[in-house]
Amino acid sequence: MDLSNRTILVVEDHDFQRRMTLRLLKGLGAETILEASNGQEALLLLAQRGEPVDIILCDLDMPEMDGVEFISHVAQGKLAQGLAVVSAMEVSILNTVETMARAYGLQVLGAIAKPLNLQDLTNCLASFQPKEASKEAYVTRTEFDVEDLKRGLKEREFIAFFQPKVSFETGDVQGVEALVRWFRPGHGVVSPLYFIHQMELANLVTPLTEVLLTQTCGYLKAWARRGYSLTASVNVSMHCLEDVNIADRLHDLVKESDCDPKQIILEVTETEVMIDVAKVLNVMARLRLKGFGLSIDDFGTGYSSLQQLSNVPFTELKVDQSFVKDSPTQPRHRNIIETSLDLAHKLKLKTVAEGVETRAEWDLLKSLGCQQAQGYFIARPMPGHQIPDWIQLWAAPEEA
Ligand code: C2E
Ligand code: MG
Ligand code: MG
Repeated sequence: MDLSNRTILVVEDHDFQRRMTLRLLKGLGAETILEASNGQEALLLLAQRGEPVDIILCDLDMPEMDGVEFISHVAQGKLAQGLAVVSAMEVSILNTVETMARAYGLQVLGAIAKPLNLQDLTNCLASFQPKEASKEAYVTRTEFDVEDLKRGLKEREFIAFFQPKVSFETGDVQGVEALVRWFRPGHGVVSPLYFIHQMELANLVTPLTEVLLTQTCGYLKAWARRGYSLTASVNVSMHCLEDVNIADRLHDLVKESDCDPKQIILEVTETEVMIDVAKVLNVMARLRLKGFGLSIDDFGTGYSSLQQLSNVPFTELKVDQSFVKDSPTQPRHRNIIETSLDLAHKLKLKTVAEGVETRAEWDLLKSLGCQQAQGYFIARPMPGHQIPDWIQLWAAPEEA
């Protein structure tokens, strides 16, 4: 086991135990070790660092922010690859935490009982499997304010990446979803998870949508020139659909770019901001009339999902990735997927599974009759110019 090129963060409130852990790690050859005495401090450290660590060794019972909350922040911010829980808690609690961390997509190396001993630590660290470096630029979190967002829009720092959507049935690449990344000078690439909400609050999400739609239309034409006729999905937050002029503006923008609204699917995402439902319904109906497809994103997670479906002329339903995840082993997830697909079928909506990460998930969703797949199992989001080459190399999995 070579730990010399791994970065390990130890989060432990107890000074003596933290020092002991550091000593054991050094003894095992670890060179880059970071330490924090609680979750808050650790998050700050990770934010300042601006890139994820390989492994976090984390206590559960800590002041300020307990280990469970800390782990959920780590997982959502993709701040580490692997996690080991070191705790004096009873085994059943450790197991629950382990399951939770795994559900969040963290590689769980194990739960080690206290007091920590060299053998347990060695076994645990030896099971770490570094993921191959993602092709996608690393997505980071930084501090920023509304002025930074405005400047970013003006300086064209918001760039669309595209993730393929393929047919389960034929394997054909039928479309892509545009996902924004903020290339912020001096700060790396910032994930939309960190700025969409702020943009909504600052009324900047409509200009962002227009930027993304324009870039997307440009690529649709470029791909068509290479012989690939695709549809493209663009995310639109519900907040943006309160503006009664937006349907006309989006329509004009697509026409000016020499594209057809029929090539564009607007993925409507729910928002925490209060919205005027009547206005939004009006706008959605008009968008449909103009030819745009309308997709209900993250289906099953929003509180008003069902109600929306009955009122809005949606054309597509996206099963949320939280249900796709582990669906082959989680009957509850599978049930929710079956019910969603059944409903979509009755309402004549196209169905897309997002977040397909494994062959087992692909096989299950396909057998349940879902139409399109999107997820890391197929491809990560990539810059637009890479799409044609990727399509050439893409081969759908062979029939099981
Ligand atoms: P979303 O629309 O549900 O997009 C899917 C998210 O899942 C993307 O995250 C994508 O990179 C990620 N993803 C795709 N396949 C997998 C997989 O197999 N496993 C895992 N774990 N994740 C996968 P991303 O790009 O960070 O975007 C997050 C969310 O931000 C989007 O969720 C969407 O709601 C929002 N967003 C992105 N771009 C825009 C935009 O231009 N405008 C608006 N309003 N919202 C946007
Ligand atoms: Mg989406
Ligand atoms: Mg989604």
